[in-house]
Amino acid sequence: MKKQTFKFSTASTDCYFDAAFKQLKEIVSQQHAIIITDQNIFDKHTSKFKGWNTIVLNAGEEFKVQATVDSVIQQLIELNADRKTTLIGVGGGVITDITGYVAAIYMRGISFGFVPTTLLAMVDASIGGKNGIDVGVYKNMVGIIRQPNFLLYDVSLLKTLPDAEWSNGFAEIIKHACIKDAAMFKILEQNNLQKIQRNKKLLSQLIERNAKLKIKVVQNDEFEKGERRLLNYGHTLGHALENQYELFHGQAVSIGMTYASVISQQLLKFKQTDAVVKVLEQYGLPTYASFDKNKVMTVLKMDKKRERKDINYILLEKIGKGIVLPIPLTDLENIISNL
Ligand code: ADP
Ligand code: ZN
Repeated sequence: MKKQTFKFSTASTDCYFDAAFKQLKEIVSQQHAIIITDQNIFDKHTSKFKGWNTIVLNAGEEFKVQATVDSVIQQLIELNADRKTTLIGVGGGVITDITGYVAAIYMRGISFGFVPTTLLAMVDASIGGKNGIDVGVYKNMVGIIRQPNFLLYDVSLLKTLPDAEWSNGFAEIIKHACIKDAAMFKILEQNNLQKIQRNKKLLSQLIERNAKLKIKVVQNDEFEKGERRLLNYGHTLGHALENQYELFHGQAVSIGMTYASVISQQLLKFKQTDAVVKVLEQYGLPTYASFDKNKVMTVLKMDKKRERKDINYILLEKIGKGIVLPIPLTDLENIISNL
């Protein structure tokens, strides 16, 4: 199993890109590890968990809350977890967020690693150390930045992933292409969701390319003072929409990227909105959608990324080159009401 180690400011992460779940035993001893997963993953891959201490949570973002953290901590105490225990989150973004957060606070911090099981977690959520929970309508309102000790990738886990979850992951892949990787944007243009699902080699390559792109951005700016902000492309409006409408994260971000392209056109003379929209459609994602502008503005005003009277909006100069533009709230209100 090939290991690639990436250094962050206070920790490093070992990545095993072309691995299989059964090789987890080679990284951590089963006696000193506890897996946290959700019911869907456990049901679809039950035999893989044999021999592992496992805590199975209800599936879904609505369970990414303090009550679940309390319950996990209670179960860790019952399983005699101590400072030598490693927590392993096997799942999508919800599971990796909860696992990383609990690992940070249990006994003031124990080690943890992830086996991401969704495309989104593989290319985005499991990377970068941001872990936490939601509070009411506010996503990721409470949490920490702390890097995992390892990431193990088993692409075959995606065989059971529903199509909607695939699109969710592609939203982040398209995001990466838009802000940083014009060559990858071309690859995405030349393919579509079904083609990539069927092409195992291309899929593995894309996952590794995106994981490394995100790792590099995080290495350059772990605590989000500059470059890491680019990863919020599509997310400012996206998060506001996700809070109000029953949308998948990827769908909300996709609509967010569409309008961020339109705003880029208005403010930076960006000329490739149609290309962005076309690629989003090729991966089953929504683009232009109507929404309640007043409600969205109310949520935007609460955004974590707000700095005093400005919102740091991520725009595109061209495909492959994202920039951060501070926009005064009053201006943004006008721009959004005219979309
Ligand atoms: P993300 O934040 O990465 O989109 P979630 O943790 O919200 O992921 O998981 C999305 C849904 O997909 C959940 O219902 C989860 O149980 C399910 N899921 C995750 N991985 C798999 C998989 N490999 N096969 C089938 N379902 C999965
Ligand atoms: Zn996202």
